[in-house]
Amino acid sequence: MSGPDSTPPLSLEPATVPIPVSDSKPITVRALPMLEQIVKACTKCELSKTRINAVFARGNPQAKLCFVGEAPGADEDEQGLPFVGKAGQLLDRMIAAMGLTPNDVYVCNIIKCRPPGNRRPTAVETTSCIPYLHEQLANVQPKVIVAMGNTSAQALLDTKLGITRLRGEWKLYRGKTLLMPTYHPSYLLRESPIQKLSKQEAWEDLQKVMKELGLPPPPKGTHPPGYRPPPDADAPTPSVAFPPSANPPSASPTSATPTKKSPEE
Ligand code: SF4
Repeated sequence: MSGPDSTPPLSLEPATVPIPVSDSKPITVRALPMLEQIVKACTKCELSKTRINAVFARGNPQAKLCFVGEAPGADEDEQGLPFVGKAGQLLDRMIAAMGLTPNDVYVCNIIKCRPPGNRRPTAVETTSCIPYLHEQLANVQPKVIVAMGNTSAQALLDTKLGITRLRGEWKLYRGKTLLMPTYHPSYLLRESPIQKLSKQEAWEDLQKVMKELGLPPPPKGTHPPGYRPPPDADAPTPSVAFPPSANPPSASPTSATPTKKSPEE
């Protein structure tokens, strides 16, 4: 068996590449309402001292699709809900582009309390908090998990490979649940020479998820019935448009390989 940092094979069909997970022992699974109360009172790590709210999840606990990000930011800490700031608005656009509403999916983070200054969570914080996520996912039992960004993909797959290496190919969470790594919405919001390419790649990743879930491609530029765009989601802000233009990106993937990775990559 290869180690957790091995480069996955490239040509398996279907592209389901199990990555060994060291923490793959059976886990205790408490019901979500009880687990949420435990998380909200948790003091297992230092982040409990600086948080306003522990942030558990939003969306549908019966969803077939689960999005997992890194950690709450300032807006999330204040409101006690994940992905309610700018990145959350983009995530809702991504969900809408898939033909779904925010209530069709389950959204949560690896870390439940905001790291001060939005710094990257430490290994100790991740190790302390991730058992809650394992319990959440054991309750929800999604068909597909979308891991957004480095921290999420690396923690869920127990690997040190970066998201630019991992994204776009199916992996297996705990050896059985399909997982698609992709970029974090915060990274997609950040203006850079490869922003358009990154959004195009993220959209390609989500289209693979749609295909796996049997979702039809939605009419271009329309929201599904019943979906209400989040506040100012339709504002003319090109950097948050999703899906990106159907036109192919001008830069090639090779020439556009970033030389410096952001924390969300
Ligand atoms: S980050 Fe997780 S482990 Fe740390 S105090 Fe918050 S809920 Fe507990």
